[in-house]
Amino acid sequence: MNRQTSDFYYEEAQSVIVGGVNSPSRAYKGVGGGTPVFMEKGAGAYLYDVDGNRYIDYLAAYGPIITGHAHPTITKAIQQQASNGILFGTPTRLENEFAKQLTTAIPSLEKVRFVNSGTEAVMTTIRVARAYTGREKIIKFAGCYHGHTDLVLVAAGSGPSTLGTPDSAGVTKATAAEVITVPFNNIAAFEEALSHWGNETAAVLVEPIVGNFGIVEPEPQFLEKVNELAHAAGALVIYDEVITAFRFMYGGAQDLLQVKPDMTALGKIIGGGLPIGAYGGRMDIMEQVAPLGPAYQAGTMAGNPASMSAGLACLQVLRENGVYEQLDQLGALLEQGLHQAAKEAGVPMTINRLKGALTVFFTDEKIRDYEGASRTNGDQFSVFFKEMLTRGIHLAPSKYEAWFLTIAHTKAHIDKTITAAQHAFRCVAEQ
Ligand code: PMP
Repeated sequence: MNRQTSDFYYEEAQSVIVGGVNSPSRAYKGVGGGTPVFMEKGAGAYLYDVDGNRYIDYLAAYGPIITGHAHPTITKAIQQQASNGILFGTPTRLENEFAKQLTTAIPSLEKVRFVNSGTEAVMTTIRVARAYTGREKIIKFAGCYHGHTDLVLVAAGSGPSTLGTPDSAGVTKATAAEVITVPFNNIAAFEEALSHWGNETAAVLVEPIVGNFGIVEPEPQFLEKVNELAHAAGALVIYDEVITAFRFMYGGAQDLLQVKPDMTALGKIIGGGLPIGAYGGRMDIMEQVAPLGPAYQAGTMAGNPASMSAGLACLQVLRENGVYEQLDQLGALLEQGLHQAAKEAGVPMTINRLKGALTVFFTDEKIRDYEGASRTNGDQFSVFFKEMLTRGIHLAPSKYEAWFLTIAHTKAHIDKTITAAQHAFRCVAEQ
């Protein structure tokens, strides 16, 4: 496969854009480097690069593109809005309509606010939780990603009883001292953290179904226990549903799992591919937000008509009958085919799948936390990723990411993907 034009543009990009990319994971560091593919066009399940190569896409732009690329309903909504103006700086009816749809789909959202990214949504839930509780510390779970604000770029200390350490240059030690990180699916560690910091903790922040060290589901009773213990300590529970909302069902992971947080952060899918974030939760908590309350949050682009229109169109598509069943069925086919292919090649492999999202881990261990995901074989993943790419299958360039199916994928795409995987697993075995 010729990718010379991508090479050219990557070189050019590096002369004007730091690292040649506008988000670090795009630079293929997670697969040992190489030239990222420069994409030109998306249509349904396919992406086309600048050299004219076609790929079956499972990145789905890290989650938002659940309808497939350039879905006609979303495209039309964006075009219509563009011809009526895309930004007014005033309230619009679209915001009301969208807020009504979100609060209906996810009942724990008694009130919402729109922002422009998942990062902003999470950042603001933390501010509001602090305003509501008058406390400062946050507990989060190792390997969960919550955007790039200072507070959530803090890694675990050496145990649940120690405070965090900055995970990025530029994050102060003082900020890191406000965050405690504990392993996911580990209630004992969470309890220990609460025993030290419970009465100073404003909120516990968690991806209810993890998407950021691969797809990892909470074990039975884990989220229920988190809720119970956090509330007993007087802390709020915030679900980061930036990946999970509308991914597994029409609604949040919280609706699928029947657990209820105090606040929720949203993003990705709800924007239909345009920039968006939203947060919401219990009325009495949300009343902390300006102009009603003392916690400030604002945005020139917040609730912009273009993102609202795209988001409304996306939800309309997702309300169609059978959408989530189809994603689940294709996910199951893909999972079976990948298993078989790995087995035939003799490559140890574990798949975590929930409906139309899955992660292939190069290990025979069960993956339930970040430690486990870290121990999986990154070299094997890199070989697999590159072989798949060469065979026209576009995956996320990191062993920690998910494959996302879209409603544009068909059985024929899955069959082609499995054929490519048979070859890629053999290459891994021969490595
Ligand atoms: N939370 C989660 C769970 C995410 O996966 C992400 C992005 N991958 C974010 C927050 C940040 O969202 P954004 O990139 O839109 O700022």
